[in-house]
Amino acid sequence: DDAGVPGRVRVAVRLRPRNAEESVADADFADCVELQPELKRLKLRKNNWDTDTYEFDEVLTEFASQKRVYEVVAKPVVESVLDGYNGTVMAYGQTGTGKTYTLGRLGEEDTAYRGIMVRAMEDILAEISLESDSISVSYLQLYMETLQDLLDPTNDNISIVEDPKSGDVSLPGATLVEIRDQQSFLELLRLGEAHRYAANTKLNTESSRSHAILMVHVKRSVKGRESAHSSENGTSTNMTKSLRAPLVRKGKLVVVDLAGSERIDKSGSEGHTLEEAKSINLSLSALGKCINALAENSAHVPVRDSKLTRLLRDSFGGTARTSLVITIGPSPRHRGETASTIMFGQRAM
Ligand code: ADP
Ligand code: MG
Repeated sequence: DDAGVPGRVRVAVRLRPRNAEESVADADFADCVELQPELKRLKLRKNNWDTDTYEFDEVLTEFASQKRVYEVVAKPVVESVLDGYNGTVMAYGQTGTGKTYTLGRLGEEDTAYRGIMVRAMEDILAEISLESDSISVSYLQLYMETLQDLLDPTNDNISIVEDPKSGDVSLPGATLVEIRDQQSFLELLRLGEAHRYAANTKLNTESSRSHAILMVHVKRSVKGRESAHSSENGTSTNMTKSLRAPLVRKGKLVVVDLAGSERIDKSGSEGHTLEEAKSINLSLSALGKCINALAENSAHVPVRDSKLTRLLRDSFGGTARTSLVITIGPSPRHRGETASTIMFGQRAM
């Protein structure tokens, strides 16, 4: 099992159950997919007698619990962030297939429904010591190549700064909130959601047209012995130094609820539809190209093509761990969109 192998993107597919409308309207029609989770296979129906078969790292049926989804999709990434690496968890799929359910659900009505963001924070809080370590969070929306701060609506054009030497990405203008308990994190997510709704109402757009990006910075101080141990070419002077001054280990977890992958009607009944469509296509296809480059072990990962990929530059590839969950619905009516989501996932592997 290569759950933790850096550089390579791990891809899971998650099917949501039929909703009430689909159960009634499509009652006479079979689902467009059939899952074989134990074989990690998915069959996509081509017609009544023929299917195409695809393999994924993980196949999650409509019965998969939120807990299981967290464990297979996000937990290995969270663990490597606690070890001081960067990591990304992304959800890709058509609007209405369960990206936000998977990543962002708060589960206040029942903790069993908590999504990946909340479970990740729970694991991080359980693992670190707040006396010597810290957690700080930013929450952003990327819409039409503009990066907005969901924790401060006045902050609506954040720039991305890359350190030319280390390749580290920073957002000097973004609000960073220190988190000390789960309650304050849930409040932050709620506030961000409210600001996102207000911003999108003002811009006359829908949240499915933008990417929501949560960044969790974990800073841990590594005490003497351990830091001396982990220093690579530790001469004795280095070792004494690190025994005296504790080292700091920094990891960053990025969770991205991507814009809906559906083809947007370009007829442009609303003024900005065409521009929106172009911009979403640009960022999702730039992301696809970067992921493909990683899958092919290519030396050149074209991160500069969009803000989304520039933002993720230090959080995928290299030593970073990346996990992609593609979300699909069962309806035969959306077979075409489902097929294109599956192809996006396949190209990442
Ligand atoms: P997206 O963010 O991809 O547009 P949502 O997460 O908003 O999709 O999900 C669309 C609808 O489907 C919501 O009502 C959500 O509660 C429901 N849903 C999504 N995934 C599941 C699931 N695995 N089990 C039950 N309901 C789900
Ligand atoms: Mg959503």
